[in-house]
Amino acid sequence: MQTDVLIVGAGPTGLTAAIECLRQGLSVRVVDRREQRAEGSKALVVHARTMEAFRAMGVAEEIRSIGIPFAALNVFPDARPPGIRVPLGHEADWGDTEFPYWLSAPQVEVEECLERRLGSLGGKVEWGQGLLDMNQNGSEVHAQLAGGECDARWLVGCDGGRSTVRESLGIQMQRRDDGQLFVLADVLTRDGFPDDEGRVYRSRKGLTLIVPMPEPGRFRLIAHLPRLIEPPSIDASFVDQLVLDRTGVALGAHSVGWTSHVFLSHGQSQKMRSGRAFLAGDAAHLHSPVGGQGLNAGVLDAHGLIWKIAAAERGAPGWLESYEAERSLLAGRLVRAVTLATRVMTLQHLVPWALTAGVARVALSTGVLKRQLTRRMGMLEQELPPGPGVDKTPWAGRRLPNPFVDGERMHDGVDALRPSIVELPEGDVVVVRHDRVVVGRYPSATAIPPRIRSLLVDS
Ligand SMILES: Cc1cc2nc3c(=O)[nH]c(=O)nc-3n(C[C@H](O)[C@H](O)[C@H](O)COP(=O)(O)OP(=O)(O)OC[C@H]3O[C@@H](n4cnc5c(N)ncnc54)[C@H](O)[C@@H]3O)c2cc1C
Repeated sequence: MQTDVLIVGAGPTGLTAAIECLRQGLSVRVVDRREQRAEGSKALVVHARTMEAFRAMGVAEEIRSIGIPFAALNVFPDARPPGIRVPLGHEADWGDTEFPYWLSAPQVEVEECLERRLGSLGGKVEWGQGLLDMNQNGSEVHAQLAGGECDARWLVGCDGGRSTVRESLGIQMQRRDDGQLFVLADVLTRDGFPDDEGRVYRSRKGLTLIVPMPEPGRFRLIAHLPRLIEPPSIDASFVDQLVLDRTGVALGAHSVGWTSHVFLSHGQSQKMRSGRAFLAGDAAHLHSPVGGQGLNAGVLDAHGLIWKIAAAERGAPGWLESYEAERSLLAGRLVRAVTLATRVMTLQHLVPWALTAGVARVALSTGVLKRQLTRRMGMLEQELPPGPGVDKTPWAGRRLPNPFVDGERMHDGVDALRPSIVELPEGDVVVVRHDRVVVGRYPSATAIPPRIRSLLVDS
């Protein structure tokens, strides 16, 4: 069977890639070796930039309807009250995004929404169809699937941390297993804490996060178990005892739902492209669940890749070179930042733990960290360096800023499928990509340099 794009893996990254292929008019097959979708809820937070991508894909409203926005995060830097309440809703400084919040939405339900959207565009996931091996030449990729063979013009490996695509391409993942154990449990609680606020307790006994879930009264416990090497069995009394011991809070856990554990590992693949095959999501980068960035980074990889493949098919191949340069740079920054944050949050020794607790109290109370928790974690400030596909002019490499103050959004003028040229009120023009990154800003349309013009064949 032949297709334009073969997508391996139907997690959030692969589903996003498949939807984007159909929106761009490319034929697609999406295969997954599982017999059906995994039931565990896994990632829980959808960030603002991801919601913007979901909006372009026509699925933001449905995903918003299955989740609840966080009203605030309460941080207890030394696990003792009083906590510092950091508002994350409308009163926080979110700038010009349409989605000024962290949205709590279980990964499994996000995947179901994406799969429905894929179906509405005429696509489907082929479950029980694992990739066994692949090879490629200059014009196509040949894949050996469990149920037969497939030739594709392009292949995207969205097949998770133990990626077969990555292995078949001979790409190394510089992966470090920290041996640090985290347990996760979704529980109903009786302690009367607001349903839409998260809590972070940084105790020397271990980091404890209590994250709101969409069902009223239900929270996700994420707890670091520093000295354990075997995952314990998790029930309501285990959760209550752990939280009481570390925070003094009587949680009153009951109706335990999904539970799981993760041994932390972090790393990044050496490359994200080999010829006509690409890596995206966990196949290319791995880090701890602290900060809830994994699902978001994967969706944005896929959202940032497929329009470039489509542009190449339509005669503007220059964009494709920027995929690896941009996304590996962002992935490297993300893996380093999350790894550092996880280390600081899980410090055990008294002196560094107490020092960082003091610094965190001051930084959070004075508002120094507030922007980190909104725009930065919302992935709205991911600046790209000048390089392939980005020029060296004001705003270049940044998300298109919104110069209007009256509620209008310049973003709304950006074509959701391909790069656009947007005229500014003062007469300058900006070239903006489908993912709202500014390619360059010029005094007039005739001043757009040939290198950038050649990328616009298709716009
Ligand atoms: C227990 C747990 C808790 C987590 N909690 C959080 C959290 O709180 N916040 C957060 O941001 N992230 C969290 N993560 C990470 C997050 O779930 C991932 O970052 C996210 O799932 C990545 O999506 P993906 O589509 O790239 O890969 P995956 O979701 O791993 O999907 C890969 C898919 O590829 C399929 N596949 C694999 N090999 C093949 C093959 N050879 N052929 C065909 N198909 C194949 C798999 O069956 C799977 O469906 C958690 C992960 C786990 C395991």
